[in-house]
Amino acid sequence: MNTETIVIVGAGQAGGWAAQTLRSEGFNGNIVLIGDEPHRPYERPPLSKAVLSGDAHVDVTSLLKPEAFDLLNIDWRPNVSATTIDRSAKQLHLTQGAPVHYDKLILCSGGRARRLNIPGADLPGVFTLRSIEDSMALGAALTPGKRLLIVGGGWIGLEVAATARKKGMEVMVVEAMGRLCERTVPPAISDYLLRLHSAQGVEVVLGAGVNQLARNPQGALTATLGDGRERTCDAVLISVGLVANDELAREAGLACDGGVLVDAQCRSSDPDILAAGDVAAWHCEWAGRRMRLESWQNAQEQGIAAARAALGIEVNHQPLPWFWSDQYDVNLQIFGMPALSHQTVMRGDQGSRSFVMFFLDDDKVVAALGPNAAKDLRFARRLIERRTRVDPIQLADMSMPLAKL
Ligand SMILES: Cc1cc2nc3c(=O)[nH]c(=O)nc-3n(C[C@H](O)[C@H](O)[C@H](O)COP(=O)(O)OP(=O)(O)OC[C@H]3O[C@@H](n4cnc5c(N)ncnc54)[C@H](O)[C@@H]3O)c2cc1C
Repeated sequence: MNTETIVIVGAGQAGGWAAQTLRSEGFNGNIVLIGDEPHRPYERPPLSKAVLSGDAHVDVTSLLKPEAFDLLNIDWRPNVSATTIDRSAKQLHLTQGAPVHYDKLILCSGGRARRLNIPGADLPGVFTLRSIEDSMALGAALTPGKRLLIVGGGWIGLEVAATARKKGMEVMVVEAMGRLCERTVPPAISDYLLRLHSAQGVEVVLGAGVNQLARNPQGALTATLGDGRERTCDAVLISVGLVANDELAREAGLACDGGVLVDAQCRSSDPDILAAGDVAAWHCEWAGRRMRLESWQNAQEQGIAAARAALGIEVNHQPLPWFWSDQYDVNLQIFGMPALSHQTVMRGDQGSRSFVMFFLDDDKVVAALGPNAAKDLRFARRLIERRTRVDPIQLADMSMPLAKL
């Protein structure tokens, strides 16, 4: 019997995958899973989509059925936070119970919704969205005919805008940058998203922040925009990005920079401590830079990679980044890391329901994205992974099947 103990901090998606991978790789020592939420590991994407709209039960978010989770024989500690890592004693201190010893420690503590430091940000009726409880609270405020103001035109903000419109709300999105999802997509796709939401009746204000929120005498909320304009609404969602939960690592002296710095084996600057998921920053070869990848795919694959690395198995975590977003009847997927420096090739009409935009570097496809184009994007993925050289004219030619390229 193995007497080693592997401790995982964070019972979210990466932590859940790390725990089950340890068992599937044959580790029969102790696994301690510390989670500050009351829930078993779960996936967050439905929280801005079907769970938020009420179309799906919250159980759809479960990573594993409770019986399957119990079979893993994990020492799961719900509602417990890890507070300090004592690296010299190899102990983790907790908000409840005695410190736990670790042979390997895997940090999967994710991130939290960034708060806005403005007056009124903590008023009732002002929400952020990260957890099941956040989704339940926001969902209860999505009332037909009422007005929702969303601060931040990123993916979560836009998904909530679509869900709230579907629920019959009036929706306004206020984005401080000049375009929607500016950090992740090129201007043409920001324009596409703007047209999509405008056509659905969402009012989008670009280049304006929100300076203040206040409750007016009628009981509604008034938002004062950066340009002085005022908007009245019944609820506000603040969705202005994520802050990595890396304090535990930073206070333990691990190298951090807006996340726990790890290598492609998921090892931090202390080889007995690994990190995975939204909290981990590493050199992504596809992007050519160090970054955190806040995505479902990365949480799963890096959670698996960290568990295997903790067991001494050789890993090289460099998956081709994949992200999707569902808004109205649009499923938008992105493979790779599009950059403004890439040559772009459009396959299909950007005004239509489905098209693919390719990103080329030195005639090789390095990224691709598009709405409602899952089949073409599967081929695009292969072109990217094989670093295929392509003729841009053929790529744009709809009569040329991608499989032939
Ligand atoms: C509303 C929403 C919609 C999304 N939609 C998509 C989508 O459509 N497509 C996509 O690719 N991605 C999507 N994502 C992103 C994806 O869900 C995340 O990238 C993924 O959840 C990250 O997993 P994680 O395990 O790293 O972090 P989390 O799932 O956040 O898990 C971290 C856990 O650690 C806990 N924790 C933190 N500190 C401590 C501590 N000190 N002690 C104990 N526990 C601690 C946290 O409370 C949390 O439970 C969405 C995210 C959200 C919030």
